Amino acid sequence: MAKHKTHFEDCDVLVVGGGMAGTGATFEARHWGRDLKIICVEKANIDRSGAVAQGLYAINCYMGMQWGENQPEDHVRYARNDLMGMVREDLGYDMARHVDSTVHMFDEWGLPMMKNEKTGRYLREGKWQIMIHGESYKPIVAEAAKKSADKIYNRIMITHLLMDETNENRVGGAVGFNMRTGDYYVFRAKTVIVAAGGASHIFKPRAVGEGMGRTWYAPWSNGSAYALPIAVGAKMTQMENRIVLCRFKDGYGPVGAYFLHLKTYTQNANGENYEKKWYDQTKELVGEYIDHHPTPTCLRNHAFIQETIAGRGPIQMVTTEAFQDPHLETVGWENFLGMTVGQAVVWASQNIDPKYTNPELTTSEPYVMGSHATCSGAWVSGPEDLSPPEYFWGYNRMLTVEGLFGAGDTVGGSAHKFSSGSFTEGRLAAKAAVKYIEDKKAENINVSDKQCEDFKKVIYKPLENYTVGRNEITGGTVSPSYISPIQGLQRLQRIMDEYVGGIATNYMTNGNMLKKGLELLTWLEEDLDNVGAEDYHQLMRAWELKHRALTSQCVTEHTLFREETRWPGYYYRGDHMKLDDENWHCLTVSRRDPKTGKFTLEKVPVYHIVDEKEKKKAS
Ligand SMILES: Cc1cc2nc3c(=O)[nH]c(=O)nc-3n(C[C@H](O)[C@H](O)[C@H](O)COP(=O)(O)OP(=O)(O)OC[C@H]3O[C@@H](n4cnc5c(N)ncnc54)[C@H](O)[C@@H]3O)c2cc1C
Repeated sequence: MAKHKTHFEDCDVLVVGGGMAGTGATFEARHWGRDLKIICVEKANIDRSGAVAQGLYAINCYMGMQWGENQPEDHVRYARNDLMGMVREDLGYDMARHVDSTVHMFDEWGLPMMKNEKTGRYLREGKWQIMIHGESYKPIVAEAAKKSADKIYNRIMITHLLMDETNENRVGGAVGFNMRTGDYYVFRAKTVIVAAGGASHIFKPRAVGEGMGRTWYAPWSNGSAYALPIAVGAKMTQMENRIVLCRFKDGYGPVGAYFLHLKTYTQNANGENYEKKWYDQTKELVGEYIDHHPTPTCLRNHAFIQETIAGRGPIQMVTTEAFQDPHLETVGWENFLGMTVGQAVVWASQNIDPKYTNPELTTSEPYVMGSHATCSGAWVSGPEDLSPPEYFWGYNRMLTVEGLFGAGDTVGGSAHKFSSGSFTEGRLAAKAAVKYIEDKKAENINVSDKQCEDFKKVIYKPLENYTVGRNEITGGTVSPSYISPIQGLQRLQRIMDEYVGGIATNYMTNGNMLKKGLELLTWLEEDLDNVGAEDYHQLMRAWELKHRALTSQCVTEHTLFREETRWPGYYYRGDHMKLDDENWHCLTVSRRDPKTGKFTLEKVPVYHIVDEKEKKKAS
């Protein structure tokens, strides 16, 4: 243990994860906390980290209030509709009312925005999306964070949160290790903002073997955003609401610009519009939700999945018409070059020119995240001027652990934030964290040396498991005493895939499968004490796996709790195939007891704040 040098850093605001939300939090913390010490810790390098690492072609959340294009209320209605009613409207409204100011800053900082030549406004791709030349989106926002922080630590993975020893529900910082040097880092902090992205690779991906690692969501998003708070007893919400994406096959290239800007459309292998065919069947399952406009994302997936099961795949995107227009053809290709170069490479390798061949689409494996057309994540306090009492406990975006804040994919209940909304939520969380400090809520935090030393032993144990266990190997690489991170990951992915509604079962699960899944996850958890790591990179893999496994437990518990099929097309409860508004028009909230490891779940009312306001105005 002595060989791993310990570094101590004391600070006021600690930001865990320097992606979109983390850079937003770091930037805003400096605005409100001029004299505070602000540290951002990132597992990769903030210049190219997180889901936006490769760039984006559109900012998916912009109201355009200056031109009267949309109002925050409109966005709340949109997100509510897409998530089949289940969103925290206070959080969504709060994000939406501030998101335009964020985008205007991106513009000032040099992000190339496309403009509508006639109106001079930002060029719309759809009602909410504006188009950018966004290859350098991430370095641009990273620069703002770098100028704001006292220090950015790259290549440090945070593995655990520290807790105050005088108040067992107050955070005291975080610990982790440098993946290059192996050094141990202790960050004692008055407030912690977790902004560590979503979770890919908890369900078995379609790409295995030769394509292993290729997923739609960033493969390095390993659920730390959920595991860190879950481990210290913070409440989580809507963790059952995983997302499945309809994307171009194998490269997961985006379809938004194709549908919205190029006006391409989908068809089955016989050239038929299949979505309409599933209308009656879907109405049986979800009632009037199928008549909502726009059709909720999950229901569009549902038609796709059912049509494929019925044997009329592959489903194709009809590009051959739009691509005859040279301008649209250019837009179609540029769309990939700015954010998913791999899709262009896949098409080249398969001899697909979308001008002459309609490319195949697929539905992805499920992901857990809080910022896209889905809203899994932490249960946080909303803003004081909007939130009903059940949703408010003092500080905006504070979790149910004091001093612990969240933003972006970390935060549950607030879907459709995307890159700009996640940055905005980081700003909101940081403003509240600074106020928490100014209100003297973070005085006399006690984090003992023993707590830090105990974590150090736990963190490096996989290295020891390997060093000791490898001596027992007589041939090959399989040890009787340890499992490698990749073996553990593949075991986790199979459990989630086969029992919790992955691609193996066409997203189908039921109570019995979920209970079996939970049992297998418990055995896996036991075996993860014996994960072995041969170097610091594998040590990171070991901790990524542990975070994924804890996130998976929470997802499975939530899926078991909600006894209905709220989002057909994301997953199905075969024993409760219908949407059940009478019993389940509510949010689900869980808490894992850190001492026993047991989860408890509860129903919490979902308040439709926007329409309530309007009803009151009308009366
Ligand atoms: C394929 C894809 C396409 C998308 N397209 C668009 C689009 O066109 N337009 C749009 O507006 N939005 C888009 N989004 C959404 C947008 O990228 C996300 O909403 C946004 O990045 C979420 O921000 P975040 O900060 O929560 O997560 P991220 O930006 O992913 O940041 C999380 C950060 O935490 C770090 N981290 C993770 N674990 C740890 C740990 N244990 N210790 C330290 N650091 C850690 C990660 O390395 C990462 O830097 C897309 C997302 C994906 C995946």
